Amino acid sequence: MKDRKLRRGGGVKTKIVLYLVLFVLFVIGLLWVLQIFLLDRIYSAIVENTLYRSSEAILRDIDDADGLAETVRYISQEYEMCISVFKFDEERTGRSIADSHINSSCLLHSINDDALSAYYMSAREAENGIYVHKVALKAFGRPGYAAHPSSSLPDSVIYTRAVKMADGADAVIFLNCDMTPVAATVRTLTVMLVFISIITLTLAIALAYFIAWRVSAPIADVNREAKKLVNNSYDGRNVRRGYREINELSETLTYAARELSKVDRMQKELIANISHDLRTPLTLIEGYTEMMRDIPGENSPENMQVVIDETKRLSTLVSDLLELSRLETGKQTIYPAVFDLGEALRDTVSRVMKLYEPDGYRVILNEAGDVYVNADKTRILQVLYNLIGNAVSYTGEDKTVTVDETVRDGVVRVSVTDTGEGISKEDLPLIWDRYYKVEGTHRRGVGGSGLGLSIVKEILVLHGAKFGVSSEPGHGSTFWFELPVAENK
Ligand code: ADP
Repeated sequence: MKDRKLRRGGGVKTKIVLYLVLFVLFVIGLLWVLQIFLLDRIYSAIVENTLYRSSEAILRDIDDADGLAETVRYISQEYEMCISVFKFDEERTGRSIADSHINSSCLLHSINDDALSAYYMSAREAENGIYVHKVALKAFGRPGYAAHPSSSLPDSVIYTRAVKMADGADAVIFLNCDMTPVAATVRTLTVMLVFISIITLTLAIALAYFIAWRVSAPIADVNREAKKLVNNSYDGRNVRRGYREINELSETLTYAARELSKVDRMQKELIANISHDLRTPLTLIEGYTEMMRDIPGENSPENMQVVIDETKRLSTLVSDLLELSRLETGKQTIYPAVFDLGEALRDTVSRVMKLYEPDGYRVILNEAGDVYVNADKTRILQVLYNLIGNAVSYTGEDKTVTVDETVRDGVVRVSVTDTGEGISKEDLPLIWDRYYKVEGTHRRGVGGSGLGLSIVKEILVLHGAKFGVSSEPGHGSTFWFELPVAENK
């Protein structure tokens, strides 16, 4: 874990702090741009929009003398605007048709007619008939009304709109209003924004550290504990319960740790079992051969038979182990072909009967006639021998085993039932494990290696077959598997 590559990319903590600080900086930046740098423009746009809408309202009433006077009075009061409307006659002399002089700083009444004519001409030339002139009051020599020196805003605006009346005569609307100097506002806002920026940034950093700590602490805990998985001492209780994902991760690791220790235990048991099973026949072989060597007359065929039997047992055990490891590592493949399962069952049962009949065992076959399946015959026979062998081995006093073959919905089911002690609920799922032995029930002696059911399981899994076991303790067990019925070609 000391790998430097792993450390690249920064921790959760650094990233959370970085992202949060960046976000806050962005918001503060946005505030600065909008409040400080764009305030002038936004304010100018609002003023111009008001002027435009006012000129529209005046234009609507321009042909109605009473309405016009009313509108002009209303607008000039509502928006503190100075308004002059002129109508031009044929000689192009302007005559005032509406006028409102609202405030003392009104420029319309203090600049000369030439200037007004110039504005009118500019408006006429403009495409939309509008000319906006922003005037700094200082330029007009009115120091009492001087704007703040740093203000970039003009202090007054003259809005000129050239229009046509219903009778075709030219007319002009002059609007004038003050523009509040925003410099002072901007300065106040600047000071406030400085404070806001410092406070939010400090709070954001503190918050980021807090969140990062809350997030990364449980992760660090899990990481520290997960490293202990290697030596099997993972303990989920040492992980701080932070949030759902970490709780789940911790539970997954606890589960993994439990499974790992199970595997570890099983492996140890497996080795112990195998060694034990290898040692028993070896001890016997050693004992018998020494006896035959040292004691005259012990070199009998019976004693030789014991040695031969034990050697066979050893070789069965070793080949079973090999077979299982091949099956489990996926090196073993199956070679399916269509064959008659009914016939295979009959052959197997009669062979098994020959073997066990002398000891008083009965194997009853309830067959469903010829049923074809597409499977690896040798392997399926192996399954049958194992299941029937086990059933004979564990069956009850009546020494009876029943093999049933049933066909339903295109599936053939083979079940092997005995009348023995059965298997307890806790042991049921475990008997398929390699070398699992139900405590106290084990009766080796039918040539079993203790690997029978694991081999059965691997073969049936390779076939994609359904299989299982049901058992009632005291009344026996039924092992079954199912294969799809194939067409006999
Ligand atoms: P073994 O060679 O020990 O029978 P298996 O893998 O075939 O090995 O079976 C595993 C265990 O499952 C057995 O030790 C036994 O406890 C149990 N078992 C298998 N078949 C039966 C059965 N028909 N009745 C009761 N227990 C059984």
